[in-house]
Amino acid sequence: MKKQIAILGSTGSIGTQALQVIEEHPDLYEVYALTANNKVEKLIEQARKFQPEAVVIANEDKYQQLKDALADMPIKVYAGAEALCEVVESGPINIVLTAMVGYAGLKPTINAIKAGKTIALANKETLVVAGELITELAQQYRTPILPVDSEHSAIFQCLEMNNSISKVILTASGGPFRTFTMEQLATVTKEQALKHPNWSMGAKITIDSASMMNKGFEVIEAKWLFGVKPSQIEVVVHPQSVIHSMVEYKDGAVKAQLGVPDMRLPIQYAFSYPKRESLSGERLDFMKCSALTFEAPDTKRFRNLAFAYDAMERSGNMACILNAANEVVVAAFLKDQISFLGMSDVIEKTMGKVAFIKNPTYNDYVETDAIARRIAAELVINSGF
Ligand code: NAD
Ligand code: MG
Repeated sequence: MKKQIAILGSTGSIGTQALQVIEEHPDLYEVYALTANNKVEKLIEQARKFQPEAVVIANEDKYQQLKDALADMPIKVYAGAEALCEVVESGPINIVLTAMVGYAGLKPTINAIKAGKTIALANKETLVVAGELITELAQQYRTPILPVDSEHSAIFQCLEMNNSISKVILTASGGPFRTFTMEQLATVTKEQALKHPNWSMGAKITIDSASMMNKGFEVIEAKWLFGVKPSQIEVVVHPQSVIHSMVEYKDGAVKAQLGVPDMRLPIQYAFSYPKRESLSGERLDFMKCSALTFEAPDTKRFRNLAFAYDAMERSGNMACILNAANEVVVAAFLKDQISFLGMSDVIEKTMGKVAFIKNPTYNDYVETDAIARRIAAELVINSGF
């Protein structure tokens, strides 16, 4: 039986690479549903090629264009955020790949978990915002959550079937500004930030990588995915991105997963798990590898990483506040409305201004997100940039 896959965010970086994996294994996987936010032309092209049962465009203004373009095909066409949340529940779907950006991934992921669909989780923001709720629901509905993020896939691939982890070690490339001084960081532009040294990704995660917020989010993601304590999560800067992450065991043994930087591998592993399937592409050639180097992250220059540890320690709705403020400042930075370092100032202030809730419900997360966004947006305006 082919696995039926729904891709949330099929027009993005992860989404298009997932479709390459499916194309390479037509005997194993079939596309059941494709969804996108705005890029209707690309969605039409994908739908004509992969012929899913259903497509959803979140932006309702694009519905008619999508409907007309697919009128000659037996594809159900929907629009809007509500439809996106509903399509993941469709009976035949086995795996939902959450490859959309940001907080918008939370609701459809909850619905997919409740419908018992295996989650291939790329949308790390879902676990940052509401990791406790998501992991509880996954347990309650016995729904597996398989990581797609390369570091977490690496850790997942290194895990043994026992309880003997001493720590997980997330590697970080350090991003394009790894060696920059504070003076240099003060004037970096979005064009510079959008050039990641090792990975080609969507704009939001590329900025998050430059500011180290991505690594902060991944620390929180690791806590929820692997059930480890904050003190058991270490970040090591490894600029070559050959080691994708590691696990240290109680006896001191360290297992690492290595490979060329190619997101198709973690995507495919989430689809094929517990099996491994063949995958085309470049192989790691140790004779061509430069030296593998390691350094400690600098949380004085990259404060976001410290904010993430802080939010994780304080728990409750703190990481939801962190995420909302970050989404606001990244959008502002991409519109030249705030400086690179100004982003961290706004995040820090927002975390200090929104009321703390120790045991948030789903509605508390929704409210926290809205309030934090409002406060962060005001702080951006007042940042004087
Ligand atoms: P991207 O910007 O390239 O693509 C995002 C996709 O989500 C697009 O298809 C877009 O149409 C859709 N989308 C965006 N906002 C939406 C909304 N409000 N409602 C519905 N659909 C929406 O992003 P990406 O780089 O593919 O990243 C996707 C997710 O995967 C992010 O959470 C990111 O952190 C995570 N991730 C990405 C990579 C990578 O290599 N790109 C690696 C690890 C994790
Ligand atoms: Mg990652």
